[in-house]
Amino acid sequence: MVVASRFFWRLYASYAVLIVVGVVTVGVLAARRVARDTEAETGRSLEVRARLLHDLAVVALRGEAGDALGARVRRLGAETGTRYTVIAADGTVIADSDEEPAEMDNHGNRPEVLDAATAGRGRAVRFSRTVAERMMYVALTVDDQGQRLGYVRASLPLTVLRARTSDVRALVGFGGVVAALVALIIGAFVARRVTAPLVSMTTAAEAIAAGEYGRRVPAASNDEIGALAGAFNRMAAQLESRLATITEDRSKLLTILGGMVEGVIAVDGEQRIVHLNAAAGRILHVTPGETLGRPVWEVTRVRQVRTAFERVLRGAGEVTEEVQLEVGGEERTVQLHAARLVSGQDVLVGAVLVLHDVTELRRLETVRRDFVANVSHELKTPITAIRGLVDTIVDDPDMPASVRRDFERKIQRQSERLALLVTDLLTLARLESAEGVLEAEPLDLGEIVRRSAGNFRAAAADKGLVFTVDVPGDQVTVSGDPDALELMLNNLLDNAVKYTLAGGTVTVRLHRENDTAVLEILDTGIGIGKEHHDRIFERFYRVDLARSRELGGTGLGLSIVKHICWAHGGQVGLDSALGAGTTFHVRIPLIPQGV
Ligand code: ADP
Repeated sequence: MVVASRFFWRLYASYAVLIVVGVVTVGVLAARRVARDTEAETGRSLEVRARLLHDLAVVALRGEAGDALGARVRRLGAETGTRYTVIAADGTVIADSDEEPAEMDNHGNRPEVLDAATAGRGRAVRFSRTVAERMMYVALTVDDQGQRLGYVRASLPLTVLRARTSDVRALVGFGGVVAALVALIIGAFVARRVTAPLVSMTTAAEAIAAGEYGRRVPAASNDEIGALAGAFNRMAAQLESRLATITEDRSKLLTILGGMVEGVIAVDGEQRIVHLNAAAGRILHVTPGETLGRPVWEVTRVRQVRTAFERVLRGAGEVTEEVQLEVGGEERTVQLHAARLVSGQDVLVGAVLVLHDVTELRRLETVRRDFVANVSHELKTPITAIRGLVDTIVDDPDMPASVRRDFERKIQRQSERLALLVTDLLTLARLESAEGVLEAEPLDLGEIVRRSAGNFRAAAADKGLVFTVDVPGDQVTVSGDPDALELMLNNLLDNAVKYTLAGGTVTVRLHRENDTAVLEILDTGIGIGKEHHDRIFERFYRVDLARSRELGGTGLGLSIVKHICWAHGGQVGLDSALGAGTTFHVRIPLIPQGV
């Protein structure tokens, strides 16, 4: 806008100067010419008037006119508005239309008279002291029969002349001003017509630069400016379509990068962040939007990320490593893969780093490894015991019968333990695998509780425990697998009886809470320290290994409980403290009424 406006003024100013100079030059030349022509015309007119006086002057200079001459000359002067002077050959003024000749000095050396003396006629313009005005004088010789009698002179004040030339000047001036004004108005219009498309193109270019890519200019005229506007519009359209393609590609790329599980960080040659996707933000605990354009070392304190970029940018090809990151107070295992970013001309333009969070993968690997080690260990213990006992019996055929029986009982106990372990492992495997999807049929949970409690009444009585079952009289219907649910209750009641000392109480309660069946297995036993609550449902986790073994536990009971509970869409938890008894509660959704 500003540029085009300046252009308009530059164009218009030169045009205006041209117009003004032209008009003034023509005006001045015309005025001068008119003044010169008027002067010449006046000179000729004065000469004619002087010539008309010639004959009268002959009479006067001959001295034949007497006093009547003065009066005639004065009358003529008054009638024609001209001053007449008759001068004798010696310069003496004989008669004058305006003045008294006797008071006038000798006119013989007046320039017009001197010129007339030599050339027959003379003209001069000067200030007349006699009439106190600038005058034009024309003098002619008065000759008679070859004898110079004197001169006759006609003169006019130049005020007349000046009035005429100033009239002309005013006319020329007025015409000039009018012409100049018209020319300036037309000029402004033309300049506007030339600059207006440029202004609109500039405005459009600025709008396009500001992101308004759909902007076009009107290409009305058929001239070069119209062609320029057309070319401008084509260029804008091309720019728009290319930008649309780039934007679309970019948004696709950003969507892909944003949806990736792997973190991606791209930097330029100066290690300034060009892109950091959402996953990288999560892994490194940074907000992606705040990282753009900042150097990597400023964005993250993770040393390995910075060194990976440094190594790659210094020419290390590719860098792959698995690192432990301590970000946001959390320990994570991350696979790092950095590579160079090279442009089409094989120029290094930056580097890209892919972060793959393998924490969960590694954790599962560890869990599996630990499980295999645990299983092996658990199986090895009874097998080693059995082998030792069998070897002793075989090696000592003379063993007393009582000792042999004791050994056989031990072998029996260890085999039972082995069988129990294998059964629990198979149950767990079934629950954890896809085949573990349990049967689902509507059943009365109260019935299951009563059945399971029946299994433990004798054992509880043997141990001197008070055993209470509290189940509602009506049905508590849930959808589930009756065998699995009984196994779950068996495991919980088995623990309660096992870990409660003589004289204690074991209670199993069932009630409804809104749309949930709530099972509570309470005991007044040894209790579980708070520090174990988080891990108690893990496979093979035991608070006291020796005691569990002694009581015939496998360490898998609660893990089985948890899986059965989950398979029924339920939850399991506990309230307990060391020495204060334990309450396990299981919540299983009821079948909605009317179904
Ligand atoms: P186990 O076969 O050893 O009983 P579980 O998985 O059933 O294995 O239980 C894990 C551990 O939880 C037990 O070893 C025991 O230390 C503790 N535990 C379970 N139930 C109780 C309870 N009712 N009272 C005290 N400790 C319990």
